[in-house]
Order: sequence, then structure tokens, then C-alpha cells
Amino acid sequence: MRPTDKIYVAGHRGMVGSAILQRLRESGYTHFVLRTSQELDLRNQAEVFAFFEKEKPDYVFLAAARVGGILANNTYRAEFIYDNLQIEANVIHAAYLSGVKKLMFLGSSCIYPRLAPQPIKEEYLLTGPLEPTNEPYAIAKIAGIKLCEAYRAQYGCHFISVMPTNLYGIHDNFDLETSHVLPALLRKFHEAKIKGMPEVVVWGTGKPRREFLYVDDLADACVFLMNHPEEPDLINIGTGEDISIAELAELIRTIVGYKGRIVYDTSKPDGTPRKLLDVSRLHAMGWHHQTSLEEGIRRVYEAVFLQQTSDYTHRNRAV
Ligand code: GDP
Repeated sequence: MRPTDKIYVAGHRGMVGSAILQRLRESGYTHFVLRTSQELDLRNQAEVFAFFEKEKPDYVFLAAARVGGILANNTYRAEFIYDNLQIEANVIHAAYLSGVKKLMFLGSSCIYPRLAPQPIKEEYLLTGPLEPTNEPYAIAKIAGIKLCEAYRAQYGCHFISVMPTNLYGIHDNFDLETSHVLPALLRKFHEAKIKGMPEVVVWGTGKPRREFLYVDDLADACVFLMNHPEEPDLINIGTGEDISIAELAELIRTIVGYKGRIVYDTSKPDGTPRKLLDVSRLHAMGWHHQTSLEEGIRRVYEAVFLQQTSDYTHRNRAV
């Protein structure tokens, strides 16, 4: 990307899109085209085609998606598959029609088989059944990867897919019903501490293992890969390190300074037993994450919960 290129960040108000936009600005890019979801409904084909025809962006980061944690994915199954399929199909086809130079599609590590060998290599895609709690979302994301692959193969488009591991950051969704585990636990421990509650409820058994990446590191990786001459069909982005949900709960409890008990609600699903990405392809290309899990959680805790002006209950409610 040259400084004069026009860049479209789809989903620039979400946690991922806003981090990518910030990273691009820090790197000296100034020429952006941006639309909120109120201004442009990416599920609407005619609107998307007209937008691309008018604006003709050079580069596209496709970070717009309907996202959520285990309960949201399991509950809003139709919205998760329909919205994501529509967004991807419209944006990727419009990018092809309008001659976009390079597009990056952001997927998710839940596209891999539920019981994939760990750490998960890119080539394990479509080698086994998916985790049922987020299958509709995963199927939509797999379709996005296959769209990019097919447009590369048939039309020679420079469309690539990246698969981030579980992400967290300051602009996360902190709604307890729809969020992912890390923002949910930060909120639960914080509120239990200030209200003097005797216990915090953690869903599931605490045994599943997850890998977490600070979203500013993800954004850095995305800009790095957009500018890299190598164009892998699919590339994992993560830290290469995982932690159990019980260990995560302990870490967050320590950071927040909560002294009460942790109890496990096993009526809630565990989801995939382990999700750890193999990031050797990314490391071989020369990229490595910067922010440790503890440092990242501290940053989010301070910015979101210790600032008087912050209203985390209304941030980014995804669903
Ligand atoms: P997943 O990675 O797609 O399974 O999504 P989540 O981040 O929502 O959940 C990860 C794991 O954390 C699952 O085993 C959840 O049951 C567990 N978990 C424990 N407490 C919570 C919570 O309060 N909210 C969420 N979303 N997950 C929790």
C-alpha cells in the first residue's frame, strides 16, 4: 500500500476494524473511505455495489461481521449465518467488479474442526466436523475463505484470508449475554468487587483452553500482511500460547483484586475443548505479537473499568 492509496476498512467502528484503522493512521496512511452500518448496510447487494462503483477503493480490510460469544452464537444462529454470508458475498464480489488491488478477509479460529490436532495448522481446514455452538458462524466464515480462494483462482484477484485467534481489547463488547469470555469475566470480577459479592460465576467447567490476542497486535499483523509480497491463501494470527478458562479467571481475579470465590456453572456449554493456533507460518514471515496476556488485560481493565467516564455496559453490543 502506498500512502496515496484509498483504503476501505469495512467495520471500522467494531473492535477489530477500529484497531486496524488506528494502526493504518499510525503508519502514515491518510486516504480512507469509511461507512457506518447505518450509512451502508453491507447485507444489501445493491447498496454495496453502488458504494464500490462510486468510491473505487484500492485496498479493502473486510472486518465487518456479526460476532459474539458462545451464547450469542448458539442463540442467534440464523443471524450469524445469514448476515455474515451476505456481507462477505457482497463485499468480495464488489471488490472484484471494481478492481480492488488487494482485499483482506478476516475469519476466525472457530472455522477449524472441533477436535483438530493442536496447535491448529492452516491445512486442517475442512478435515473434520465443526463445534456445534458456533457452526453457523463458522460455515459463513469458511465460505468467505473459499470466496477469496475462488476469486484468486479464477480471476487472479489478490484476495487473502487471515484467521485470528480469540481477540480482546478496549472496544470490546462487555454485555454479559453476548460477549466473549475475557470481557465478560473482567466485568463480572469488577462488579463483584465493587458490590462486595461473595462469588463470581464462570460458565462451563473451566477446563477448555483458549488463546487470546490483544487486538492492537492483530491490527499490526493485518497491516504487515497487507504489505507483504507473499500471499498465502489462509494464515493464522495468534500468540502460539494458550491458557485454561480457570487460569484465565484466576489471572483476571488477581488483576481486578477480587477476594471472593469462583464457582462454575456447568449448565453452560464449554464449547471446543481447546483452540490453539499454529502460528509458525506467520512467525516465518517475520511477525510476532508484542503484548503479553497480563499486560493486555491490565490495559483493558484500566481503560474501561477504572475511568469514571467509561460506560462499558453500552459498548459495542454486537447483537
Ligand atoms: P468460544 O471461544 O467460541 O467458545 O467463545 P467464548 O469466549 O464465549 O467462550 C470461551 C469459553 O469460556 C467457553 O468454554 C465458555 O463456557 C467459557 N466462559 C466462562 N465464563 C464465561 C462468560 O461469562 N461468558 C462467556 N462468553 N464465556 C464464558
